[in-house]
Amino acid sequence: MASTKYIFVSGGVTSSLGKGIISSSLAKLLQARGYSVTIQKLDPYINVDPGTLNPYEHGECYVTEDGAETDLDLGHYERFLNIPTSQDNNVTTGLVYQSVINKERRGDYLGKTVQIIPHITDEIKRRIKLAAQKHKFDITITEIGGTVGDIESLPYVESVRQMKWEMGSSNCIVIHLTLVPYLTTSGELKTKPTQHSVKVLLENGIQPDILVLRTQKKITEEVRKKVSLFCNVDISSVIESIDVSTIYEVPLFMQKEKLDITVLKKLKLPAKQAPTLKPWKTFLGKLKNPKSSVIIGLIGKYVELQDAYKSITESFIHAGAMNECKVDLIPIHSESITEDNVKEKLGNLKGILVAPGFGHRGIEGKIIAVKFARESNVPYLGICLGMQCAVIEFARNMLNLKGADSTEMDIKPKHPVIDLMEEQKGVTEKGGTMRLGAFACRLKKGSFSYLAYKKDMVRERHRHRYEFNNKYMHDFDKAGMKPVGINPETNLVEIMEIPEHKWFVGVQFHPEYKSTVLNPHPLFVDFVKASKG
Ligand code: GLN
Repeated sequence: MASTKYIFVSGGVTSSLGKGIISSSLAKLLQARGYSVTIQKLDPYINVDPGTLNPYEHGECYVTEDGAETDLDLGHYERFLNIPTSQDNNVTTGLVYQSVINKERRGDYLGKTVQIIPHITDEIKRRIKLAAQKHKFDITITEIGGTVGDIESLPYVESVRQMKWEMGSSNCIVIHLTLVPYLTTSGELKTKPTQHSVKVLLENGIQPDILVLRTQKKITEEVRKKVSLFCNVDISSVIESIDVSTIYEVPLFMQKEKLDITVLKKLKLPAKQAPTLKPWKTFLGKLKNPKSSVIIGLIGKYVELQDAYKSITESFIHAGAMNECKVDLIPIHSESITEDNVKEKLGNLKGILVAPGFGHRGIEGKIIAVKFARESNVPYLGICLGMQCAVIEFARNMLNLKGADSTEMDIKPKHPVIDLMEEQKGVTEKGGTMRLGAFACRLKKGSFSYLAYKKDMVRERHRHRYEFNNKYMHDFDKAGMKPVGINPETNLVEIMEIPEHKWFVGVQFHPEYKSTVLNPHPLFVDFVKASKG
């Protein structure tokens, strides 16, 4: 295909309408018709990336293969499309301003007044086109974070207006997602908020091409006609997006609504073959008809906020379906776990996962949870900090190293079994300076991990500053906690296991970032398998 076509997805009325899921579902349908598609997120905040944000603020920080710390929507893009994203798939206002200001300091704009239009908008447009240019995608879907009308998203909306003007409406379209609330008192679906949010877009010079209406109730023909008339879109471009039980059903609903066909018509692209989505439907079938169920505990300190562990919860959905088993994931706050109540709190769990995290808060509860899992022979998966907690627990209770700790929690512990990585020692800046992205790991034959992956070399994504202290390797090995995954270049310990246990795996990396609908992560699959017994 000659050049990339651009689809923008904006949102109106309220936030959290699921632009990421609509973008992913549309991309899935276009991909299934034989187009190469990527999805990108524009975030209006001034942080350069979400890596420095507290999970309470913005949910999970997702990490790409190439080591970018990004918005959690990129996780959805990968889980739906089954292809990796990169640092080009997430643009923030901070990033845009940073590059413009750097250019200004270099003297690139010498003599000129640097302004939002054209300098900031030019930089936004450059970054929108970058992902497609580098990887030659047929179609780029760009999701605009926030809600139209927000001050922060104005430069993005203006950039979209310019792109539409420059490229013409068959190369660049806008899908606007809004909410059609149902008023129980009058028993009616209300279109006024949609009309108002389309007006806001129009004030900014954009006529949306397609409207997707989020709704609790079926949209009547009358409502469709009304929206079509007042918002100036043809009736086939008014798409219903009704609440469904799982996000993975949305592509099928969008297909029923012919969102993909409508988009292709507007972009003057051939429909190619009709998508069968067979493997996707097989997954859905298993997801909706489990033959068993299992209770697994998710021990973390951000459990009040669902989105804080998004990729982990989705990985369990994929792995559960693979096992034809419903995973009841119970979030448990690590700060609430004590030696006295651990049995009561974790006693009914068939599997225990200790989540990634940073800092001291909640750490002792996590260590108690590990001890409980180890001693009661309950399958255990520790991710990043969860692996480090397993190491600390084993040192304290099996190696009898009193005062064993991570130097993250205690600057000078008696036994620094987890220590700052050498390369991190001179690091003072917080943003983007962790060990980030995919690195290789060699697996020991016969280990739980090897049996799960069924190969001896894997690549997994990372986000950490601390590592297992190799000075203690021999002692751990002798006492029964084995380093079974090692980075071949640096010797860094990537996986610790207790072979005597039913299933006990601690990983320094984040397997959850790589689990997708069509490729559930092998460690999650085997963890669920071991937990269901
Ligand atoms: N805080 C730990 C480290 O930096 C673990 C990080 C994580 O769980 N992602 O090494």
